[in-house]
Amino acid sequence: MTSLPALHRARAGDAVRAENPLRAGTVAFYPGSFDPLTIGHVNIVERGLRVFDRVVMALAHNVNKQAMFTLEERRDHIREVFAHDARVSVTVFEGLLVEAAVAHGATAVLRGLRGVADFEYEFQMSTMNHLLAPELETVFMMTEKGHFFVSSQLVREVASLGGDVALLVPAPVLAALAARLRK
Ligand code: ADP
Repeated sequence: MTSLPALHRARAGDAVRAENPLRAGTVAFYPGSFDPLTIGHVNIVERGLRVFDRVVMALAHNVNKQAMFTLEERRDHIREVFAHDARVSVTVFEGLLVEAAVAHGATAVLRGLRGVADFEYEFQMSTMNHLLAPELETVFMMTEKGHFFVSSQLVREVASLGGDVALLVPAPVLAALAARLRK
């Protein structure tokens, strides 16, 4: 026999789906620079999908940050890497992160933590975001063992100096790095 709480949950879920099929299920908003996308990011998305129905990867349009790849290039890398999984999408946003997240139907912001170096900034940002949008939670995933040293910045530096980063980035990014550095 179906328990009452389970029945209630099912009905509530059905109602949401009937209202707008695109907003069915839980959505996490995963913001970042992804310059370039690394295996650390891919891992956070894959594990995020164990908790959320969809992950929206969100590229911040940051005019102050000097990027190696343009927003369009980074968006294309993400699209190519997750082409097999319709649960992952990518967007570019300007302005307040919390507004973009809510506009995408997200109930949570997804972030990764590599260690204490990430903690302070993430703690500040999640506290500020919670103040701005209390209905939005930030969910942190600890880095997968063996990924704690992987960062976009280090990948850019090592690749620029001719080092092999094949184990640190997905194949389309490796190809893009090689092409960029040949120029
Ligand atoms: P940002 O400029 O917002 O820090 P990044 O692209 O560097 O953008 O990182 C986006 C998110 O992914 C951050 O929450 C960061 O901590 C997380 N992240 C990056 N690399 C890793 C990794 N190797 N393991 C776990 N999380 C990671």
